[in-house]
Amino acid sequence: MQNVTKVTRGEKLYEGKANTIYATDNEFLLELESTNRISAGNGEKRDVVEGKGLTNNAISTALFKLFEQNGIPTHYVCEGSNEFSKVVRKAKMIPLEVIGRFIAAGSFCKRYNIPTGKVFKDMTFELSYKDDSLGDPFISETAAAYGLEIVSEESLYDIEYYTYNIGMCAQNFFKEFGLTLVDFKVEFGIDCETGELILCDEFSPDTCRLWDKYGNSYDKDVFRKDLGNVSETYKALLNIVQENK
Ligand code: UDP
Repeated sequence: MQNVTKVTRGEKLYEGKANTIYATDNEFLLELESTNRISAGNGEKRDVVEGKGLTNNAISTALFKLFEQNGIPTHYVCEGSNEFSKVVRKAKMIPLEVIGRFIAAGSFCKRYNIPTGKVFKDMTFELSYKDDSLGDPFISETAAAYGLEIVSEESLYDIEYYTYNIGMCAQNFFKEFGLTLVDFKVEFGIDCETGELILCDEFSPDTCRLWDKYGNSYDKDVFRKDLGNVSETYKALLNIVQENK
C-alpha cells in the first residue's frame, strides 16, 4: 500500500444521498465529499442543512483516525481538496448495515415495544441487508454468509469484532464531551488494492444517536422528528467537539 499525502480530484463518479464520490489520479483512491444534503425514511424526507458537510467530515475524520489508532483498518487516507472532503481507499462495498446499540431508541423500541432509553447490559449488534428497494430488511449472519453469499464467514467474524471496538472507541470519544452514544451504523468494504476488510462510509451525527445529559439530541433525530434547527444542532456538535479538544 502506498503512503499518499495528496491526490488530484478527477470526475464525479457517484452522488449518494449525503456524500458525493470523485475519482482521483490514483486508481485505488477516491475522494469522498460530505455534502449538506440530508434525508430520512429511505429518502422520503429530504432537505439541505447549511454546515452539515463540514461537521460530518470533521467528526468522521477524527473518529476514523481514532479507530485506526485502535487497530481498526479504515478507508481514510488523508485530507481532501477542501474542508468537506477526504481521500479514501477504493473498496468493494459489502451490502450490510451493521448497527450497534448501547441504549434503546428509534426502530428498536417500535419493533419490540420497549421504552426509549433502556440501557443495555452490553452493546447489541444487528445486521440489515442494504437494498433500498427491499427497505433494508434485517438479515441473519447465516443468511448473509450462506444464503445470499454477500460476505465471507471470515469477514463476518472480523466485522463483529471491529464493530464492537468501534462502538467502545466512539462511546469513550463522545463521553469526553459530555455526550452519550446511543446507537450507530457502520459499513464495511473490501479494499480493491489489498483485499483487506476495511471500515468505509462515515461515522457522523447522520449515522449515530448522541444525547446530552438532558436528553437533547445532537444527531439526525432533530431532522427526522422536527425537534429544532438542524443546522444549529450540527454546528453546536462541531463546537462541542472542537472546543473541548
Ligand atoms: N442508521 C443509519 N442509516 C440507516 C438506518 C439506521 O445511519 O439506514 C443509524 C441511525 O441513525 C441510528 C442507528 O443506525 O443511529 C439505529 O437506527 P434504527 O435502527 O433505530 O433506525 P431509525 O429509527 O433511525 O430508522
